[in-house]
Amino acid sequence: MSEPGSEGAPPPGRHWQTSRAWAGALSAAWGLCVLGPPAALVAAAAAAGAGAAPAALVAGRAVGLAVLAALAAQTVLAARPRALDRPFGLDRVIRFHQRAAVGVAAAVVLHPLLALQGLASAGAPVSDRPWGLGLGLAAAAVLLAGVAAAVFREEVRLGYQRWRRGHRAMWLGVGLALAHALAMGAAPIAWGALAAVAAAALLWRLVGRHCFNVRRLRVGDVRQETHDTWTIELDAPTDRPLAHDPGQFMFLRLHRRDRPSEEHPFTIASSPVPGGPAAATIKKSGDFTDTVDRTLRGDGARVEGPFGRFSFVRDDPPALLLIAGGVGITPIMSMLRCLRDAGDDRPATLLCANRTEADILFRRELEAMPASVKVVHVLSKPGADWPGARGHVDEAFIRAHAGDALADAHAYVCGPPAMMRAVTGALRRLGLPRRRVHAERFTL
Ligand SMILES: Cc1cc2nc3c(=O)[nH]c(=O)nc-3n(C[C@H](O)[C@H](O)[C@H](O)COP(=O)(O)OP(=O)(O)OC[C@H]3O[C@@H](n4cnc5c(N)ncnc54)[C@H](O)[C@@H]3O)c2cc1C
Repeated sequence: MSEPGSEGAPPPGRHWQTSRAWAGALSAAWGLCVLGPPAALVAAAAAAGAGAAPAALVAGRAVGLAVLAALAAQTVLAARPRALDRPFGLDRVIRFHQRAAVGVAAAVVLHPLLALQGLASAGAPVSDRPWGLGLGLAAAAVLLAGVAAAVFREEVRLGYQRWRRGHRAMWLGVGLALAHALAMGAAPIAWGALAAVAAAALLWRLVGRHCFNVRRLRVGDVRQETHDTWTIELDAPTDRPLAHDPGQFMFLRLHRRDRPSEEHPFTIASSPVPGGPAAATIKKSGDFTDTVDRTLRGDGARVEGPFGRFSFVRDDPPALLLIAGGVGITPIMSMLRCLRDAGDDRPATLLCANRTEADILFRRELEAMPASVKVVHVLSKPGADWPGARGHVDEAFIRAHAGDALADAHAYVCGPPAMMRAVTGALRRLGLPRRRVHAERFTL
């Protein structure tokens, strides 16, 4: 059994070079998987002649098959496969899964409407396979309820963990949809292939990732950084460090006495250069994070990852413009620590935005960075004695403090959503092409 992340820090750039071609191949595979079976069905119906089945019935069956194929693909996207992380980034894969689910829901509604219209125009009875229809109705109810819960989770104030537990019912929806297709006489080859894809995804989720992408570590230290933010260090054996690219994230589950164990995404804020513990710096901002200070040395930790593409090693630019808001500094800190520990003296400018002086994270460590790293702090609600910049990171601020970097730097931005929108917009107006602006969101 291979341990994930046991090879040490990867050399910048090299391993990303194949991922663009791989991304193209995987996108094509997704299209083929979702559109191939219904296209084959339509082609077979066309070959059989116009009188064989009404067009609406063929369309209804094709949409049904597309739903089944998209569901199989959805199970793969949700299983956190490493093969999709490098070319796309797991965060983007999860967002794609969320958007695709809305399309699947629309097709779930369209499928019976078309099929019923087709059956009616053929004069065929609707209910010659009542079991099959019942399974289809049950599948549609589960799938539509699941998508509605995901889309309107915040509006109906459904807590993330409760929603996540309920979301497991989608596997039931997939099973019911497959059973419905089998009962309604779907082609065994298409049915079998899609069932095999879903089964493989389930197997990876239940077993594979635990063997290949999950590590069990111990909390080595818990340190207070500011009034509301703590760092948790995880001890990994020195000969098997938690290898990651600077800026990547992990799913962390802490096993603490008298506390429910929940899994949450956090940046691996430590340096990827082997030698030290892996660390997450966590701000109190909700049910779980509010208890970060109750974590004790020796508590167990389960880490899945690393994941994500928010890392300068992917692009290997000649200069870095790093823009952080609040706890959004964590991936950027990992990048700066990497540059420092690797003796990499390419120019890096950090524009670090916070509300007050007391909110500034890693202040002393930033002051001790090598001369190639320029750090500019800006506060939106400073005290009267703050000697530095005041306000927000906007176009004028970027031009004033990082104007030199704009010519060839890649920008890496992480912070609250409103700040990220404003900063990425400002960077575009300052002439940075889209491919040189990278942003990390702290929501999945
Ligand atoms: C890629 C990434 C990196 C992150 N890095 C950091 C970091 O370095 N430091 C830091 O303080 N925070 C980080 N976060 C944010 C952190 O994950 C959330 O603050 C935390 O999960 C909130 O949990 P809670 O129970 O305290 O709050 P809640 O109030 O329960 O949740 C607030 C919101 O956080 C999101 N969330 C909650 N639980 C999960 C979960 N298990 N999986 C996915 N999303 C969830 C949901 O959108 C939820 O609405 C990161 C998030 C992402 C996606």
